Amino acid sequence: MNADFLPFTRPDIDEETIAAVGDVLRSGWITTGPQARALEAELSARCGGRAVRVFNSGTAALEIALRLARVGPGDEVITTPLSWVATANVILAVGARPVFVDIDPMTRNIDLDRIEGAITGSTRAIIPVDLAGLPVDRDRLATIAATHRLRVVEDACQSFGSNWRGRPIGTEGDFACFSFHANKNMTSTEGGAIALPADASPEETERWRLQGVRRSGEDEIDVEFVGEKANLTDVAACIGRHQLKRLDAFNERRRTLARHYFERLAATALPAGFALPVPDFAQSNWHMFQCVLPAGVRRPDFIRAMREAGIGIGVHYPAIHLFTLYRKLGFGEGQFPHAERIGRGIVTLPLFPRMTEADVDRVCAALPHAIAEASR
Ligand SMILES: *Cc1c(COP(=O)(O)O)cnc(C)c1O
Repeated sequence: MNADFLPFTRPDIDEETIAAVGDVLRSGWITTGPQARALEAELSARCGGRAVRVFNSGTAALEIALRLARVGPGDEVITTPLSWVATANVILAVGARPVFVDIDPMTRNIDLDRIEGAITGSTRAIIPVDLAGLPVDRDRLATIAATHRLRVVEDACQSFGSNWRGRPIGTEGDFACFSFHANKNMTSTEGGAIALPADASPEETERWRLQGVRRSGEDEIDVEFVGEKANLTDVAACIGRHQLKRLDAFNERRRTLARHYFERLAATALPAGFALPVPDFAQSNWHMFQCVLPAGVRRPDFIRAMREAGIGIGVHYPAIHLFTLYRKLGFGEGQFPHAERIGRGIVTLPLFPRMTEADVDRVCAALPHAIAEASR
């Protein structure tokens, strides 16, 4: 990759963080310990004082939240087909069945109008996903969940720092799960967290996180169930703590760059059907800036043409129900037309805090040619 190549995202790790990681490595305590506990306390402060526990991935956070919500074999879980596959895989991992509900083509999030039609006697939970950081309507979601006595496991892996009507994601509601993967708005290289509802036990959460182990006294240890091995190292937690201090500034910068995209794209000749994201500058953390190519534009050719112009394009995501694993479960083409169409045409343009306005200009300037190349 040459130095001028603009990737679709890149983590921003400062020298202070690198020095602090050195201190952790020299301290003699490198796996779960004081850094992980401090990160939990700092995350809790941002989540309105709710108990927060950290994990080695967002996937582990989601899976453990489902277990804490008592979701298991025989249960159905409603979710969106347009997300990272982890969202649906965790449902299978706990032995439950995913029930997909098509998306709203504007927000690209689960269509709340369709949820009630998918509820059966076996429905136990809903996993909403805030795609690209744009929050799902938490008020409507809470009403649906309360009416039908369903648990909500928020897949907020992309929306840390977003808010619903001024209320930060993670401060209210049922389980809220975050990811600190390298591409997320804040990272611990890999990592995740759950903000727990009042009826979930932090101690039980810790047992799910580490082999089901319960410690007591000086030397007593007992195991009642098979937990996971999903603890976060102190090396990772230290990175996460330094990133958390910068999260608001990161998100503010993303918002500024997203605005700049809208200004430039308004002045760019784009084909009919080229869809922009919802211009939400109040609630979204702008985890991604995603557009949808019109049907006649071949995405692989578009990605190639942009790469030749020195610009990286991401694909987040093809519809989950069309993966082989899900087809084998009986899902297929035509079931969720909005997710399928958008999953085929969606592209993630570069957006990360260290980018400049000139980088955005460069992306916008390259678009018409790349689209023309991919339409021929
Ligand atoms: C990143 C992500 C996950 C999984 O997080 P990991 O930390 O990679 O395990 C789950 N769901 C969504 C929507 C994500 O973006």
